Amino acid sequence: MTSEKKSHDPAWLENGLRSIWLPYTQMKGAVTPCPVVGAEGSKIFLADGTTLVDGIASWWSAAHGYRHPMIEAAILRQLKTLPHVMLGGLAHEQAYTLSARLVNLLPQRLSRVFFSESGSVSVEVALKMACQYFLNQGVKRTRFLSFNGGYHGDTFAAMSICDPEEGMHSLFSGVLSKNLISPLPTDEEKTARFMNLIESNSEDIAAVIVEPYVQGAGGMLFHDMVTLKKIRDATKAIGAFLIFDEIFVGFGRLGTSLFACQRDNIIPDILTLSKALTGGSLPLAATIASDEVFDGFLGDSSNKALMHGPTFMGNALACAAANASLDIFEEGSWIDDVNRVERQMQKLLMDLKSLPGVVDVRVFGAIGVVETGNLVDLDWMRRTLLAKNVWVRPIRNIIYLTPPLNISDHDLTYLCHAVRDATHEWSNKFGS
Ligand SMILES: *Cc1c(COP(=O)(O)O)cnc(C)c1O
Repeated sequence: MTSEKKSHDPAWLENGLRSIWLPYTQMKGAVTPCPVVGAEGSKIFLADGTTLVDGIASWWSAAHGYRHPMIEAAILRQLKTLPHVMLGGLAHEQAYTLSARLVNLLPQRLSRVFFSESGSVSVEVALKMACQYFLNQGVKRTRFLSFNGGYHGDTFAAMSICDPEEGMHSLFSGVLSKNLISPLPTDEEKTARFMNLIESNSEDIAAVIVEPYVQGAGGMLFHDMVTLKKIRDATKAIGAFLIFDEIFVGFGRLGTSLFACQRDNIIPDILTLSKALTGGSLPLAATIASDEVFDGFLGDSSNKALMHGPTFMGNALACAAANASLDIFEEGSWIDDVNRVERQMQKLLMDLKSLPGVVDVRVFGAIGVVETGNLVDLDWMRRTLLAKNVWVRPIRNIIYLTPPLNISDHDLTYLCHAVRDATHEWSNKFGS
């Protein structure tokens, strides 16, 4: 491994580097990660005394910033009474309260919450719900339709519905189950291709899955309600279920409404949540189903029951953190925060569009994206941003910001200026 700040690296980092295996990282010659010793609000503190302003909130999970006092207090309280107990046959207050609160906050038809511990698993559960619903009726609908540009996680079924070209999972194409990948129906030609796929597989499709309004890790691509409406209507017409993966866009990230499905009242049959569910403090995810889906699992014999149950489902510490995060959302200041972040990013980033090499700059709620034709040297861009004391992780050809929703004006301005300066330097060096 090569390191930039070797003299300050703590001993645990050097020792651990010989045994740890890092995510999506070529370990041979990998850049040593920055050792973090603390974090608060939108700041990350490094071992060498450097403070970074965080532009991505740990994969957009830390919606209220790090160590929010209400979340911290709730976790500590729960730790002293009941950190975890199995959910099979035993019940605890935090999980039951959280499920009731989520159902209250969501549109009426989404009424049953199944907990798990990661976004990928909540997607697996959503797919299993759709598939088993039909199997319970003796109907063999076993395929899923998803969209180019989509990202739904890293487990096998989740991989099989990600964009096959994005490179994250293309290696596995021969191993994964053959699902249907369609362009998002954003124009006439793409709508025709989508409708063709839907109609020629109308008996086989159990569910269609989409990240509503913004496809996240697959490229931070935006689409509108007209597109979603087409997907909702087509799915209904063939009697398949619609799954909204709101793991990225849920919990206020888009502004206007807490959940994306409330924005234009386009309601899915199944919804997945994770990432910001605990304000980014502990792992937790939820798959929320409609009455119709849920009723398909009722019967006399236990073999109609949903066949899933992770060991740590509904973990009490994580549910306590999620309940505290909902308390913060219910205070209501997040709407003004997201509007403020959106305006500020528009003001400070939009004119980067005119730089050579930049192909698009777009902002949606608390998501800001600078898209280049080709970043050429991703490590150069990452180093350049880090040298400006901001934590921003460009992926493929894009630099994106998904800061804590409550980031201060000062920190956001600092972040945007760092992105501006880095993009200008990049454009001078590579952009022609
Ligand atoms: C992150 C993400 C997932 C996967 O969640 P993990 O917790 O990383 O397994 C799935 N869908 C979307 C939209 C995501 O952003």
